[in-house]
Amino acid sequence: MMSPTPDLSPAHIPSLDRLLRSPDFEPLLSQFGHTRVSQSTRAHLQTLRQAVLNGTLSPQDLEPAQLAKTLQAQLTAESRLQLRPVFNLTGTVLHTNLGRALLPDEAIQAVVQAMRSPANLEFDLETGGRGDRDDLINPLLCELTGAEAATVVNNNAAAVLLMLSTLSPRRETVVSRGELVEIGGAFRIPDIMKRAGARLHEVGTTNRTHAADYENAINEHTAMLMKVHCSNYAVKGFTKSVSVEEVAQIAKKHGIPTSVDLGSGTLVDLSQWGLPPEPTVRETIEAGADIVTFSGDKLLGGPQAGLIVGRADLIAKIKKNPLKRALRVGKITLAALEPVLALYRSPERLPEHLTTLRLLTRPSTEMRAQALRLAPILQKWVGTLFTVEPTAMLSQIGSGALPEDVLPSFGLRFAYTGTGRPGRHLTQLEKRLRTLPQPVIGRIAQDAFWLDLRCLEEAFEADFSAQLTPEQA
Ligand SMILES: *Cc1c(COP(=O)(O)O)cnc(C)c1O
Repeated sequence: MMSPTPDLSPAHIPSLDRLLRSPDFEPLLSQFGHTRVSQSTRAHLQTLRQAVLNGTLSPQDLEPAQLAKTLQAQLTAESRLQLRPVFNLTGTVLHTNLGRALLPDEAIQAVVQAMRSPANLEFDLETGGRGDRDDLINPLLCELTGAEAATVVNNNAAAVLLMLSTLSPRRETVVSRGELVEIGGAFRIPDIMKRAGARLHEVGTTNRTHAADYENAINEHTAMLMKVHCSNYAVKGFTKSVSVEEVAQIAKKHGIPTSVDLGSGTLVDLSQWGLPPEPTVRETIEAGADIVTFSGDKLLGGPQAGLIVGRADLIAKIKKNPLKRALRVGKITLAALEPVLALYRSPERLPEHLTTLRLLTRPSTEMRAQALRLAPILQKWVGTLFTVEPTAMLSQIGSGALPEDVLPSFGLRFAYTGTGRPGRHLTQLEKRLRTLPQPVIGRIAQDAFWLDLRCLEEAFEADFSAQLTPEQA
């Protein structure tokens, strides 16, 4: 800004009409349209009036070219979408707040197709009659889990709600006190039961529940025995829980079903890739569960969805519940889900093709080499306030899957070089990275700032580095 000109008056401000007709405004009008440009320009001229009166403007500030430039920047900033891609360098692979699983290319292509053109979502291509959207993935889910039937809803919370509302209305569902979990985002088993109209019959204690506890709880009001996978915590020490197999045997004896909320749920044995074992859906069905519910976007590596598999008669009942219509998934979800499930038909291809598994099994050597490449770039970007060191660290799977297990990983540690407490400098650094064009999300811990490189695949490394140019610093 030039030095203020005392004799500049509001009369020198160009009229809205003149600006809109000036060649400088042509590109703006063609990009944003007449309505939006005139609205923003009018508002801007209003602020100029005040600035002129305050004597803080120069004649150049009132040139159409300069005004067009200001408005271009303002309108462009306002047009930026609120949901934006970020770099998840938190070390938590399935980060709920960052959107959980990333989809494999096969699923992305299918989603694009489904969005572009009409699809046989509920249209039977054999008969030309009405179809059922569940039928698109039903056979695949049955093949992969050994279940008789399947249905899909919005997320696993919806799956549990729908299952309880259908199978335990005004009747009791028996759950161990050690399994009354709260998942992040206010999903609590006792609350969801209440909303589903099911009555919770708690048995056992926080640390120990015995088969006899289930047995003794069963009465004429009992609708179901339910087990919930302890997703995000572990009960340790003097503990006892009853296996799905045992619970299912007790339920069967009394002619009632057993349901299992697996939470993450996986379709393959993850220990074959060196990951900690999780019960698979197939094992749970084979152990005698009549209904199993699990998430689409946790370890499965697919879109947000809730999968319900199990006995055909129970699934049929669930599908008839009017709530099913309210909780159903759209074509975009189904388009993403089918190719993800299809990948599980060739398990040996999974570590390469299923993005979630690829990230979880990324070789340490690869992340280490990447840390060595990126350290000097980040050091230059951050300046002398921090030293950037490549370092070994630990990642988490996230989303409650295998809560205690951590994966050896590699990344960068930013250590404050000044004297005194680093706190404020760390939060400033965290903010600087978070406000980059493609925000970089890391974490502050142990008086340092950490970027875990597990989720920065090499294909995205150039984009990551490109925004760390000195001008951005
Ligand atoms: C994550 C989880 C849920 C909720 O699943 P969403 O797909 O997030 O709705 C329910 N139960 C358990 C045990 C979970 O781990």
